[in-house]
Amino acid sequence: MVKEKLEEIRQKAMASIEEAKDQESLNDVRVKVFGKKGEFTKVQKGMKDVAPEDRPKVGAMINEARAAIEERMNEAREKMQQRALDERLKRETIDVTLPAKKNKIGHRHPNTITLEEVEKIFIGMGFDVVEGPEIEKDYYNFTALNIPKGHPTRDEQDTFYINDNILLRTQTSPVQVRQMEAKKPPIRMIAPGRVFRSDEVDATHSPSFHQIEGMVIDKGITFADLKGTLEMFVHKLFGDDVKVKFRPHHFPFTEPSAEMDVSCFKCGGKGCRFCKGEGWIEILGCGMVHPKVLEMSGIDPNVYSGFAFGVGLERIALLKYEIDDMRLLYENDIRFLQQF
Ligand SMILES: [Zn+2]
Repeated sequence: MVKEKLEEIRQKAMASIEEAKDQESLNDVRVKVFGKKGEFTKVQKGMKDVAPEDRPKVGAMINEARAAIEERMNEAREKMQQRALDERLKRETIDVTLPAKKNKIGHRHPNTITLEEVEKIFIGMGFDVVEGPEIEKDYYNFTALNIPKGHPTRDEQDTFYINDNILLRTQTSPVQVRQMEAKKPPIRMIAPGRVFRSDEVDATHSPSFHQIEGMVIDKGITFADLKGTLEMFVHKLFGDDVKVKFRPHHFPFTEPSAEMDVSCFKCGGKGCRFCKGEGWIEILGCGMVHPKVLEMSGIDPNVYSGFAFGVGLERIALLKYEIDDMRLLYENDIRFLQQF
C-alpha cells in the first residue's frame, strides 16, 4: 500500500521536475512534494498507522524515495544554474575594440638610466660588470687598499660601523680587491653600487650615494691605456667634442694618481654658470693601481700592472641632466622623475 503510494508520488515528482522550466517552478515542485501539506509529507505522517514490525522496512522505503527525488531536483537545479551562467556570459561578452584602461606604471630613475648607459659603454670595451657587498670588511674597504689603521684617509671617509671589523663600504673600490683575489689577470671590470659616508645631507652630499669603480689589470698596462679608455668613455657619454684633462692627485691605492676633468659640454670651455666659469668640470678620480695593492691581493707587480678609476654615479646624472640639487634624486617626486 505505502509502497505503491510512494511509487506514484515518485513518478509524478520526477515528471514535474522534468517539466520545470526555471528554478521557481522547481521550487513549486518541492513545496508540492515535501512541503507541510505535501504528498510525501502525508505519507511520512501515515507512519504512525503502520504496524510497529513493518516500520523499519517502510521507513527505509520512504528514505530511499526521498533521496531519489532530491537527487533529481539537485541535478535539475545545477543544470539550470549552468544554463543561466552560460547565457549571462554570452550577454556580457567583452568588447575587445573598446580602448584599454591605461595602467600607470613607474618611471626609470635618472640614476638607473645613467648607470645603464655607463654599463653599455664599458661592456662595449670588453669590461665585465661585477658587484660586491655593501656591508664590507674593514680589510677590503681600507687595509687592502693601502689605507691601514690610522691613515688620514680614514677620517675623510668616516662611515657607519657594524663593529670594529665590519662597516658600510665607503667606496666601491673593495670590489677591486675581491676581483683580484678571485681571478687571474687579465681583469677588466666595472663595479657599480651603493656606498655610504657619515655626511650630512645637502645639495651635493648624501649619507648614501653610488659609485662606479673600474679596473684593468694585465701585462704591460700603462697610463696611456688609462687615458685612452677614459677619454673614450667621456666621448661616448658627453660627445666627441669633449676634451679631457688630467690633474695630478693623491689616492692611497693608486700611484701615480690623477683627477680627470672634462671640458664643459655646455659652453665648450669658454666658461659659464654650469662650469662655474672654469670651462672644465671635474668628473672622476683615477690612477695606476699601487704595487702594494696588487701584492696584497696576490698579484705580482713585477709581472702585471693596471689602472683603476672611480666615478660618482650621481655626479654623472646631475651633469648629464643639468640637475643642480642631488636631493632631488632621492625624493622620488614623480613630477621630477617624469622629466627624464
Ligand atoms: Zn661651461
